[in-house]
Amino acid sequence: RVFISLLPKAELHAHLNGCIPLDCLRELARDYAPEAGEPTVDLTAFADGVKLDEIHDFFKLFPAIYALTATPAALRVATRAVLDQFIGDDARQQNCAYVELRTTPRTTKHMTRKEYLEAVLDEVELSPKDRTALLVAVDRRMEESVVAEIVDLAIELKNAGRRVVGMDLCGEPLAGDVHMLVKHLARAKKAGLGVTVHVAETSANTAEDTMALLSFEPTRLGHATFLNDDARAFVEEHRIPIEICLTSNLLCKTVSTLEDHHIKHWLLRDHPVAICTDDTLPFRTSLAGEYALLLAKPPLGLGLSEDEVSAIAERGLGARMGQM
Ligand code: 5GP
Repeated sequence: RVFISLLPKAELHAHLNGCIPLDCLRELARDYAPEAGEPTVDLTAFADGVKLDEIHDFFKLFPAIYALTATPAALRVATRAVLDQFIGDDARQQNCAYVELRTTPRTTKHMTRKEYLEAVLDEVELSPKDRTALLVAVDRRMEESVVAEIVDLAIELKNAGRRVVGMDLCGEPLAGDVHMLVKHLARAKKAGLGVTVHVAETSANTAEDTMALLSFEPTRLGHATFLNDDARAFVEEHRIPIEICLTSNLLCKTVSTLEDHHIKHWLLRDHPVAICTDDTLPFRTSLAGEYALLLAKPPLGLGLSEDEVSAIAERGLGARMGQM
């Protein structure tokens, strides 16, 4: 534990609405007064610890959270709480040196997508420049006009000097037209943004889907659990860092045990990986907790040495999209 808390680490894969601390959500729920047609919110599933039969169940958790972060003011409160969780005064045992937060801009009754991103950025930019940055996410479920709008917005905000360093592709792993998505994400990359994609997250993702997503050489990859040999060779050749979320994979049942985890393939080849939390609320994890899994002896952990874990943390810091 002391070793982990002394180790400078980067959090590169954290979804804003999946990382809001429960206390903060409860506070937002107290102020939440649903109008006709708006959902009521029950947070007991999060308090009790979520149980998922499969990854697709996971996405059903978000409407309750989204109801609570539908105004710019609530979104700012949530963003601050998420950042504090990683780099605030009470988070010292985590020793998170840098957090690249990601979020999918939503239009609500109270804000446009641009106002959504500006609210998040207003909080992100209160922290020192070398500690925080934002990735703007598009969801695989979105239609093309929305994807195009979000890519345009990310480029516009970056060019205006806001702290947007990249984009992410997330959401329901089997949804969407990858070719359409790639067309727009490649445009973001050309405009100077880093791009990470959730790729091969489930065993039902086809090799075609995966190769299409790899075709524009994303800056990093999320999960990359079910890459076939050709895809692995491509990733290795281009040395594309992989964001690894151990607890997330176990709880979503895309990996059955740590012993079987694909991180082992990449560690054997000295390939850059970044250890990340994904969604601290439903997975009840922390950055320090994910690193503890690297050190713990099997079957609880991977049984790596302190030197090996230090090297992984350093590689993680090296994979950030923002400039220190
Ligand atoms: P937000 O982008 O709204 O701040 O964060 C929550 C959203 O991130 C979810 O609605 C979902 O689209 C996406 N997300 C969170 N965790 C995962 C994950 O493990 N896999 C995928 N594919 N998407 C995720």
